Amino acid sequence: MNHSRARRWLRRGMGGLLAFVLAASLFAPCAGVQAQAATSKEIQKEIDDLNGQKNEIQGRMNEIQSEIDSLDYEKANTLEKKEILDQRNMLAQEELDVIQEQIDITDGLMESVREDLEDARREEEYQKQLWMSRLRAMEESSDVGYLEVLFDATSFSDLLTRLDMVNEVMDYDESLEQQYIAARQKVEVLEAQAETMFKENEARRTEQEAKKAQLEADIAAACALIASMEQDTADYEAVLAQEAATQAEIQALIIDKEKELQAAKAKEEAARLAALAAQQAALGLSANTANYVADGTTWMMWPSYTKYLTSRFGPRYLSLYGYVRSHNGVDIGASYGSAIWSAAGGTVVSAGWNGGYGKCVIVNHGNGYTTVYGHMSRIAVSAGQSVSMGSVLGYVGSTGNSTGPHLHFEIRASATATPINPMAFTYFS
Ligand SMILES: [Zn+2]
Repeated sequence: MNHSRARRWLRRGMGGLLAFVLAASLFAPCAGVQAQAATSKEIQKEIDDLNGQKNEIQGRMNEIQSEIDSLDYEKANTLEKKEILDQRNMLAQEELDVIQEQIDITDGLMESVREDLEDARREEEYQKQLWMSRLRAMEESSDVGYLEVLFDATSFSDLLTRLDMVNEVMDYDESLEQQYIAARQKVEVLEAQAETMFKENEARRTEQEAKKAQLEADIAAACALIASMEQDTADYEAVLAQEAATQAEIQALIIDKEKELQAAKAKEEAARLAALAAQQAALGLSANTANYVADGTTWMMWPSYTKYLTSRFGPRYLSLYGYVRSHNGVDIGASYGSAIWSAAGGTVVSAGWNGGYGKCVIVNHGNGYTTVYGHMSRIAVSAGQSVSMGSVLGYVGSTGNSTGPHLHFEIRASATATPINPMAFTYFS
């Protein structure tokens, strides 16, 4: 996770933008100069290309978004780690404070121990000097010299008494000195202990400071990582915004092109219908002024190149079978293999063998209307296929219940599929 990754994206994003600008500059003059000439097919291709570019951008945007998401996830993780480090650092600081307090206490302790030691040494020195001066005084003065004290004894018991007295003085002085030496040694032990404590505390402080320094370095690293991830996220978001802007511009172009496409399609459809109308006019089928069937919902063209009827709609006598039956459509006497056109746009309901109809196509035109084309020699469409008015459905033949090539053309109205007279339809104006 570093800046170079986001930068790479940035460069890719710029590449996309550049491609878009080039594409836009290619399209721009076309819109003005070729608007009249562009076919719906050409416009559709442009729209497909633009949609392709848009999808490509979307793909990149999705990738960038997942980079941002993973950055967010990593950032949250790092923040959690940093919080733990912060807590540990706080505790480390508290411990350091405690150690410092202990150091301060032992420092004070040592100072007082040292003062005690000084006192003890001074007292010892003083007693030593005192004892020595008393010894010297005893020795120097004839009156108080040890031997003279003893020599001056008046009796043996007096000698013993004097001896005791001398010993007592000497013992007393010596024991005093011993006491002062012991006191001094005790203070020295205390001093050594305090010094050891102080050194231990100093060592602990050094260790704790190192620990804290490490924690602070870790925290600084985590902060730097978070900052870097935030920078990455900002970079990615900038790229994302750029891509989105490009996508919006392409989308605007697509909307324009869609309008152009609709216009071109309408124009092309009008031209196609005009051509069909001209074709029908040549058959003399264009005399009527109304375009629609009686209910005003659907209009149809004549499905064949000829208007010659060999059999009309309604009851008729079928000499072949010798009984009267209803004829549900009209028979158009067209030559074998000539084209059969769909009377209106719609969806092929069925295309195939259909009993007496032979090879037959049925088209649903909506509004409840279907048309039937029978006795084909060959079928050119398949079920489910969309057809336009004038699409070739197949070719005239004599399959099924037929005695010669013709087109049986039937129009059924409403859900009850009631056959209506095709001649009730007025075809092209
Ligand atoms: Zn017929």
